[in-house]
Amino acid sequence: MENKQITVTSPLLPDLDEFNALLKEIWASKWITNNGSFHKQLEKELAEYLKVPYISLFTNGTLPLITALQALRITGEVITTPYSFVATTHSLWWNGIKPVFVDVDPSNCGLDPSKIEAAITPKTTAIMPVHCYGKPCDTKAIQEIADKYGLKVIYDAAHAFGVEVDGESILNAGDMSTLSFHATKVYNTIEGGALVCHDEKTKQRIDYLKNFGFAGETTVVAPGINSKMDEMRAAYGILNLRQVDAAIAARQKVANCYREALRDVDGITFFDDMPGVRHNYSYFPIFIDAERFGKTRDELYFAMKEAGVLGRRYFYPLIGEFPTYRGLPSATRENLPNAYKLADSVLCLPMHHALSEEDINRVLKISVNETSLYNRSSRIWKGSL
Ligand SMILES: *Cc1c(COP(=O)(O)O)cnc(C)c1O
Repeated sequence: MENKQITVTSPLLPDLDEFNALLKEIWASKWITNNGSFHKQLEKELAEYLKVPYISLFTNGTLPLITALQALRITGEVITTPYSFVATTHSLWWNGIKPVFVDVDPSNCGLDPSKIEAAITPKTTAIMPVHCYGKPCDTKAIQEIADKYGLKVIYDAAHAFGVEVDGESILNAGDMSTLSFHATKVYNTIEGGALVCHDEKTKQRIDYLKNFGFAGETTVVAPGINSKMDEMRAAYGILNLRQVDAAIAARQKVANCYREALRDVDGITFFDDMPGVRHNYSYFPIFIDAERFGKTRDELYFAMKEAGVLGRRYFYPLIGEFPTYRGLPSATRENLPNAYKLADSVLCLPMHHALSEEDINRVLKISVNETSLYNRSSRIWKGSL
């Protein structure tokens, strides 16, 4: 169908018959939540797959952020990025913590370590960076600052499922890392998430906190919340884990097609792979220089939308532009020049495991040929998947 919409993402779904077989097991056991056997199995398999020592499953990707701050008893002020999904900053707000925005480094869209120290005050207790688009932050530089000032580091790694640097999981950086398994992410459990930590005692505290603070039948050790993953989604997650490598490989092919077609197009820039990094190709952001491209980002965005190609402007507006946060002294354009520039120029092209050659060519045709000042017909990708 000519006008079929191409969405920015599409969920990785397990085989329905295989899922049904696991559902039958759940029905037979009548154990549908509260640390059941599929929950335990998925935690074990994810720890192995992700190469992390301890992981706790959650019901979404926002509660692990909120819980990580609770588990580490973070208070006062936390340094974070304005260039992310709102949940990052919302988790601070839900803990009564003041967010302090620091500008990002355009080379990876993550917190710029060289700007962190100037934002530290006596009230600062932690840094909350984001591996934006799954691109690793400069974890070494961030850790050096954290160590120097005695700060905790909690990474929002919602985009960084399976990302490794020199064979080591990016999720092992800092004190904790959070993941989202939302339907829109590389790996999904419909809704879901996880919190990664490095020692058994911390995992124990996290597991108490995600279950109302219960440490036994009649003992409540902390004002915990309920954010447990149920057995149906754990079973779904076990099946999806088996096909996530194939999904990432399919995404890599899409990324390579886009790169081949868009390379050297005047006014469009994008990211190449970083040496030593296992990427997950979670997003394919392009950045538009309106003067050189001949159209603004929004002109391109709406032209694509008109043609049924639904790119998304992740992350526009910046978190600091929303009413809750715009009064913060750190939210200004003067303080965040790179973040504002990225937010004003970014467009994420459709990126998922199920894009066909025809889909890719439709995206490229509208994003390059019809909207550019230049005729790029020769640049339409004609390779094969
Ligand atoms: C998706 C996302 C979250 C929130 O995850 P949910 O599972 O939707 O609650 C948090 N941070 C970032 C950067 C995200 O992209």
